[in-house]
Amino acid sequence: MTTRRRFIRACALAGAAVSSGHPDTAAREAGGTAGGERHEGPILLSTWDFGQAANATAWPALAAGGAALDAVEAGARQAEADPDNRTVGLGGLPDRDGHVTLDACIMDHQGRAGSVCFLEGILHPVSVARRVMEATPHVMLAGQGARRFALAEGFASADLLTDEARREWEEWRRTAEYRPRANRERHDTLSILARDRDGRLAGACTTSGMSYKMHGRIGDSPIIGAALYVDGAVGAACATGHGEFVMRTLGSFLVVELMRQGRSAQTACEEAVDRIARGLGADPAEVQVGYLAMSATGEVGGHAVQPGFQRALRTARIDTVDDVPSRFTTR
Ligand code: ASP
Repeated sequence: MTTRRRFIRACALAGAAVSSGHPDTAAREAGGTAGGERHEGPILLSTWDFGQAANATAWPALAAGGAALDAVEAGARQAEADPDNRTVGLGGLPDRDGHVTLDACIMDHQGRAGSVCFLEGILHPVSVARRVMEATPHVMLAGQGARRFALAEGFASADLLTDEARREWEEWRRTAEYRPRANRERHDTLSILARDRDGRLAGACTTSGMSYKMHGRIGDSPIIGAALYVDGAVGAACATGHGEFVMRTLGSFLVVELMRQGRSAQTACEEAVDRIARGLGADPAEVQVGYLAMSATGEVGGHAVQPGFQRALRTARIDTVDDVPSRFTTR
């Protein structure tokens, strides 16, 4: 809720002063760093303040030498099972027709990937995505096909629309005039990146997507290259926010490719945000996207379009939630 309040406040202020010029300059103006930071050993880096709980769940096994892939799945599962999280899994807000539809993906250091989208009634979409990766010749399963696959693989059917989420949806229906655009105050994704003791990278994303979205809408979160990309030799990147902008710019793939070409994790995220900012074609106050990145050498970075985006970082020395610098400022 802290995050939500901060974000709403940021948007309210955003007749948004724009930091024009090079993204590194914009980052400095917004209080960020151009260089980023580097950490030794295992690392967990998650979106939003609720990422701290995901990190806490995943950390013990990772710290003990567990695999990055297991860590990102464990972190995502924590968020999916939290009934108080309105934007992921159980307790997630439904689409405008009252259906909770889930998007998730997972990727490892070898470039293996699995994904599910428009999945209903399964508590842990991230684990179904992992099963798609490990047990099928495919990368992505959608809708009823994904659900049938999950049930056949032993996942239980679950009603994910909690009484609280149903009440919020009913209240929204009473008052809302539906317009198919970002209701930016009601969406988030748990995106999580990990590096393990052996230097292997992995990432995962899971979300119920944009609340009250059109039935059938799929966001960036299950799309490999959009909300998540991992290259074991280079780095990993993930996204949260207004998915349509991430999809149009294939942001996480872009961040990793920029890191391959020599950018730091930080400046790669800044450039990916800048691509969105330059091509907005929309009131910047209507858009929020945030990227996080981690290099194979343990450097981390993050950048957002608007103020209000947070990251949760866990290492052997650090367990923190920080604000992420942004392209637009509120000054
Ligand atoms: N990216 C998600 C979507 O567009 C929502 C979010 O992360 O805020 O569905």
